[in-house]
Amino acid sequence: MSVSDCVFCKIASGQIPARLVFEDEEFVAFHDLKPQAPVHVLLIPKAHFSTLLEVQDAGLLGRALLAVSETARRLNVAEEGFRTVINCGDNGGQTVYHLHFHILGGRFLQWPPG
Ligand code: 5GP
Ligand code: ZN
Repeated sequence: MSVSDCVFCKIASGQIPARLVFEDEEFVAFHDLKPQAPVHVLLIPKAHFSTLLEVQDAGLLGRALLAVSETARRLNVAEEGFRTVINCGDNGGQTVYHLHFHILGGRFLQWPPG
C-alpha cells in the first residue's frame, strides 16, 4: 500500500476527519474509531513509518513517548493510570500500517493481553 492510500497519513493531513486531542509539528493524537476502553486515543508521527521496526531515529521515538505522556495528562488518565501499546506486525495485531501508539485508560486493563 502506498503512503497516499494510508488512512493515518490522511488523518495527519486533514483529508480524513478525526477527533483530535493533541497536535504539534511532529505528532497528532486522535480518538480511535472503535474504542476498546473509555479512553482510547492513537498518537502517530505525521511522517509515515509502516511499523516500529522502520524507525531509526531515537529522538523521534523519545519525543513520541513524551507526547504520549502529555496526551494522557490532557485526557485526565495520567493519575489513575493508562496503557500505551505499539502493535507491530501481523502477530502483534497491527491492522493499520502507519506507526501508532495506543493510549488506553478509564478502566482497569487486564494483563496479559489475549
Ligand atoms: P492496530 O490494530 O493497527 O494496532 O490499531 C489500529 C487502530 O486504528 C484500531 O484500533 C482501529 O479501530 C483504528 N482505526 C482504523 N481506522 C481508523 C480511522 O479511520 N479513524 C480512526 N480514528 N481510527 C481508526
Ligand atoms: Zn501513513
